[in-house]
Amino acid sequence: MEGLVIKSTGSSYWVLPDDGSDVLECKIKGTFRTKGIRTTNPVVVGDRVVVEEKDGILALITGICDRKNVIIRRASNLSKQGHILAANVDLAALIITIKLPETSTIFIDRFLAAAESYRVPSVLVFNKTDLYGEDDLLYLDALIALYENIGYKCFRISALNREGIEELKSELQGKITLLSGNSGVGKSTLLNVLQPDVEVKTGDISGYHNKGMHTTTFSEMLPLPEGGFIIDTPGIKGFGLLEVTPEEAGHYFREIFETSQNCKFYNCTHTHEPGCAVIAAVEALAINPSRYHSYLSIIEEITQGKYR
Ligand code: GDP
Ligand code: ZN
Repeated sequence: MEGLVIKSTGSSYWVLPDDGSDVLECKIKGTFRTKGIRTTNPVVVGDRVVVEEKDGILALITGICDRKNVIIRRASNLSKQGHILAANVDLAALIITIKLPETSTIFIDRFLAAAESYRVPSVLVFNKTDLYGEDDLLYLDALIALYENIGYKCFRISALNREGIEELKSELQGKITLLSGNSGVGKSTLLNVLQPDVEVKTGDISGYHNKGMHTTTFSEMLPLPEGGFIIDTPGIKGFGLLEVTPEEAGHYFREIFETSQNCKFYNCTHTHEPGCAVIAAVEALAINPSRYHSYLSIIEEITQGKYR
């Protein structure tokens, strides 16, 4: 029997069978390896697995299907050891507020770069539009224009007033979405709007037990009424970049990568090199200076050793 892992406590895994039968609590049989990295958790939410029932009582996961991607939180950037947050993620969505609290453009750009590095499509969700005054709305328009120009889809919502929710729902429908955002941006409020029948806080979906809620390995996907799931991993604000060198960081900023094709040196880091097309584009405002600033902050961290 095959199914989808929708919750993990690190020792037990809840599997939603493809045949539509009830969610099964499973244990793992044997060891599974993830290529290239030692992980503390072999099976994660989003995994498609093979399950065998023993005597109709105990269900065992005996195999994992090939993954299209994994989102990993590494112990450190150099580390070959990490904790997988999720597998087979279709979409990464970042909830942003421009005030109360303000989400910095650096935070947005790091999120987008991380999603690029995992090759997971991403969207930006601007929440609390009901709160914004005239000046805030002008800034919001400019911010959305900036990101739409680069090619990222943006949504304007008010989770409180339930505005813009239908458009967002149709984007999420049928997908496994990783939801991120700084604390206070309205993640829980939005989750409650997206799945009104389910009490998000308790994590107690479809009647199965709520064990291990507060362990670090706990993670779970919340089913959406329209189909699809939202991955709600406690304590995950964004997700870190993969191991990168200064030459690679520019690959994860779409417009910088595109422009860098015209740099004089193939391994240009766009920081000081002569003939750098990116620096020229920033000076001509063809690349937004705030994006370049975020890019430089990542380069700085790499060279200062925080990422390596
Ligand atoms: P989380 O930390 O991201 O889970 O944020 P919460 O969902 O707990 O929301 C933080 C605060 O913002 C709460 O007081 C919410 O009522 C409020 N909030 C959430 N969404 C909106 C919104 O769209 N508009 C306004 N005005 N407040 C909101
Ligand atoms: Zn360059």
